[in-house]
Amino acid sequence: MHEVSLVRNIIRTLEDEFGAEGVARVRDVYLRVGLLSNVEPALMQNAFWAVQAAERCYDQLTLHVEVLPILVVCELCGHESTITNYRFRCAACDTPTKNITQGTELLIHRVSFEEESQPATPSHP
Ligand SMILES: [Zn+2]
Repeated sequence: MHEVSLVRNIIRTLEDEFGAEGVARVRDVYLRVGLLSNVEPALMQNAFWAVQAAERCYDQLTLHVEVLPILVVCELCGHESTITNYRFRCAACDTPTKNITQGTELLIHRVSFEEESQPATPSHP
C-alpha cells in the first residue's frame, strides 16, 4: 500500500528531526497534501493507524490531514486560479495553463508537543 510507505517516511522524517525521544513527545502531526499528490486522506489515516498497530510505538500520535486545492498562475495575465474538476484554465482569461503553484505537495506542516510538565513553584520558607 502506497500510503503505508508514506506514513513510514513521515515518521522517519520526524525521527530525523526530533530523535525517537522527541517523537515520543509529539501529540499531533499536521500534514498538508495537495489534491494532485495522489494521497487519499482517509487511506492515509488508515495507514497511520496500521503502522502504529504494527510497530507498537508512537501510540500517542494523532494525524491530521489538510487537503490543499490546486492553484495555477496564468502565464499570460498572471491571474491566480483555483482549479476545479481538473480543468486547467485561467479563470480570468481562459488560457489553458499547467503552471501549478499549489496542489502537488505532501509535507509535514506542523507538529505539536505534549504539554510540558508544570514548572515547580519556588518555595519561600
Ligand atoms: Zn489568464
